[in-house]
Amino acid sequence: MSATRSPIWHPFTQHALHGAMTKIVRGEGAYLFTEDGRRIIDAISSWWVVTHGHCHPAIVAAIQQQAPLLNQIIFAGYTHEPAEQVAKLLLKLTPPGLDHVFFSDSGSTSVEVALKMALGYWHNIGKPRSRVVVMQHSYHGDTIGTMSVGERGVFNAPYGPLLFDVTAIPFPEEGCEQQTLAALQQACEQHQPAAFIVEPLILGAGGMQMYSPPLLREMKRICEAADVLFIADEVMTGWGRTGALFACEQAEVVPDIVCYSKGLTGGAVPLAVTLCRSAIYDAHYSTDRSRTFYHSSSYTANPVACAAARANLELWQDPQLRQRPQQVAAMQEQRIAAFRDDPRFANVRRTGTITALDLKVPDGGYLAGVGPTLLAFFQSRNLLLRPLGNTIYVMPPYCVTEGDLDEIYDAISAAADHVRAKTG
Ligand SMILES: *Cc1c(COP(=O)(O)O)cnc(C)c1O
Repeated sequence: MSATRSPIWHPFTQHALHGAMTKIVRGEGAYLFTEDGRRIIDAISSWWVVTHGHCHPAIVAAIQQQAPLLNQIIFAGYTHEPAEQVAKLLLKLTPPGLDHVFFSDSGSTSVEVALKMALGYWHNIGKPRSRVVVMQHSYHGDTIGTMSVGERGVFNAPYGPLLFDVTAIPFPEEGCEQQTLAALQQACEQHQPAAFIVEPLILGAGGMQMYSPPLLREMKRICEAADVLFIADEVMTGWGRTGALFACEQAEVVPDIVCYSKGLTGGAVPLAVTLCRSAIYDAHYSTDRSRTFYHSSSYTANPVACAAARANLELWQDPQLRQRPQQVAAMQEQRIAAFRDDPRFANVRRTGTITALDLKVPDGGYLAGVGPTLLAFFQSRNLLLRPLGNTIYVMPPYCVTEGDLDEIYDAISAAADHVRAKTG
């Protein structure tokens, strides 16, 4: 690969170290097809968004039907049927207690909306609060606000001066769970924060770090007792990833505010929602216009995106399809189990349909030299896998086959040998 200067500035890409981008012309199910005729298995669901598979016929048809009818409309003062139905179906699928839906267009924006809802709530009830408690290693997006509540590091060092101050509690490492809970308790007592924001059960970009449903439940209980709003960022964990439709279900937790995006349209087009309890909506509901929730994106509740989301939500009503994440979880378990005693790997883990394992290397971490080597190796095998440093993870679309998974895990094993051979 020779580096090229590119007129397009790609995300999370160091162009000085990267050759030309692979051009994809078509996607179908778990596969991507390149311009030069190769078939690539999409083992990470195109950055965690594709749930049922690329170009699912029902979602494609919904987009085709909606596009010529109404493809954009201001959403202040106006509404449309696709949005109405998405809201209705969402409220039906999510646990009782979440009563209002605010639309936006990306995961980051849905988190920004959640934070603004939380601060707006405290402001409007006359008890202003602004501190946010976060979990170490979290990722909530790449805007200034979401970086502020996410892990600080190489990704956001230049912007540090713009990021607001938060209180971070440690990630609940195995055996240290009580410290995390105690830290949350203490943060709630000491700071009277507006909210605690957390990725339920799995910290995605922070390295696919996993923790148990009982811990999530306990964190919710602590927040509730301390009168601190509990924000669940289900942007990645939603839509079957953890086995259940939503990760919070596994802990029987009903958040005060929850964010969904990525798989909301099955991964076809961008859309996001932030759902909240009535208390938060009610705090903004007033004849006093200064209490309005002043937030909008130009494409809020875009009708074509909503039509895709409606088709996706209708798919999830099918009991057979509802079983699919569990089946993928079992298929994944079968393969990851073989790596549990493998001396080449550490922290072999799985939550629902997501597996992850850390390749043992002298220097780990995201910038570890091993990252690009692994990426190139998987590319040579026609696999879309994108390790986070030395952490390799598999998050396939739910239409993945046994054969696809065999190919993926054979390549992971071969990649470990390849890295060893290279580093001696
Ligand atoms: C991807 C992600 C986001 C940001 O979503 P975008 O659509 O990329 O803005 C936020 N939170 C979590 C947990 C994510 O995985």
